[in-house]
Amino acid sequence: MRSTPDVHLNLNVRGMRRSATVSNNEHLATLEREGHRVFRLGLGQSPFPVPGPVVEALRAAAACKDYMPVCGHEPLREAIASHLWRQQGVERSAADVLVGPGTKELMFLLQLVYYGDLVIPTPAWVSYAPQARIIGRRVVTLPTRAENDWRVTAEELDGLCAEDPGRPRIVILNYPSNPTGGTYRSDELREIARVARRHRFVLLSDEIYGDLHHRGQHVSVARYYPEGTIVSNGISKWCGAGGWRLGAFIFPPGMRWLLEAMAAAASETYTSVAAPIQRAAITAFAGGLWLEDYLTRSRRILAALGRELRRRLREAGVECSRPSGAFYLFPDFGPLRDGLAGAGIASSGDLCRRLLEDTGVGILPGTDFGRPPEELTARIAYVDFDGAKALEAMAGIPRSAQIGRAFLEEHCSPLLESVDRIAEWTFCLTHAKARLHVL
Ligand code: PLP
Repeated sequence: MRSTPDVHLNLNVRGMRRSATVSNNEHLATLEREGHRVFRLGLGQSPFPVPGPVVEALRAAAACKDYMPVCGHEPLREAIASHLWRQQGVERSAADVLVGPGTKELMFLLQLVYYGDLVIPTPAWVSYAPQARIIGRRVVTLPTRAENDWRVTAEELDGLCAEDPGRPRIVILNYPSNPTGGTYRSDELREIARVARRHRFVLLSDEIYGDLHHRGQHVSVARYYPEGTIVSNGISKWCGAGGWRLGAFIFPPGMRWLLEAMAAAASETYTSVAAPIQRAAITAFAGGLWLEDYLTRSRRILAALGRELRRRLREAGVECSRPSGAFYLFPDFGPLRDGLAGAGIASSGDLCRRLLEDTGVGILPGTDFGRPPEELTARIAYVDFDGAKALEAMAGIPRSAQIGRAFLEEHCSPLLESVDRIAEWTFCLTHAKARLHVL
């Protein structure tokens, strides 16, 4: 028998499919083109537009055409270091910053150049583990528990490291979290820092949603483990510029060797981030009152939505921990397991497939985030609404006022409808009724 051409593929990527979020989004787009009503709760893209001053800065820089230094444009590196200082009181200089085409690419380079295991508490963002597998690194998952709001504890990390002390490891901590929206308290971060210091692992602190903490109170673990924390941040989420592809790692000064190794690999692959984007990003990281206003409005909308959607899910009998940041919920349909099993749903994959078929609501199964298939968890990205209009409408609402249901009904109705569809669907299935809505 003749072999197929894919035998010539690197074994690490053979059989690998596109990232779950990307392929889910493409699938939903196809359904939409075919004329189906679809609710896109799969891809974690900011619903808000890039703030005006940042767009203006990009316009002004459009003619910049030179290659940039591989570590990034110096004024941008300075602005990123100052941003961390202003927000967290962690002192870093421009020389500690590496700018790249999105933090995703920087994470890949980090794993490529650092020879160690990748430790990820699960549920975790979809791409950490596949990146490690492409490179051939060992992935160690640390399952967290719903009772602890899906947060890893210092004891759990300590227990894992103590099994093989001295083994080189990168531990990734992501907070506010994709997929749960949860975050860590300062005392928990202090404890984790103590364990990190004891085992001297590299702590990659993925803080891409830090500025979308719903109360604007994000705390970085770099405050407590400054010598071993790499802070990851970018403009994709809090600045609404995912498609601009710019992210940065901020290293401790004692880890310049690691930054240099990544810069060497970067110089042989992507060279530098697009010059106009880097110049525009200076405006974003330098910030100002306009950015504070934009972020305050974004956070208030996201907080109100998270509260309301969670309330509706829980009313339908679905468990869901409270989000503190970002735009995600991680519902657990476990309490409805018996009823769902009667409808042939026994895994999170079944759940999401059937939900999409029956209601047009697209969400991602817990398995995409490293959870076991039989656990009926899923991720909702609550971003399917007109963020520009909602931001505008917020302008007239005093800061002291609660964002009520009327506001959400008016500006975020597709989201409320999609969660109502989920609730109605689970009710019908668990009460053995026929399908409710058909695409
Ligand atoms: N980390 C987390 C937790 C994310 O959700 C994402 C994007 O969805 C990224 C990193 C990568 O972001 P980017 O490559 O756009 O900087």
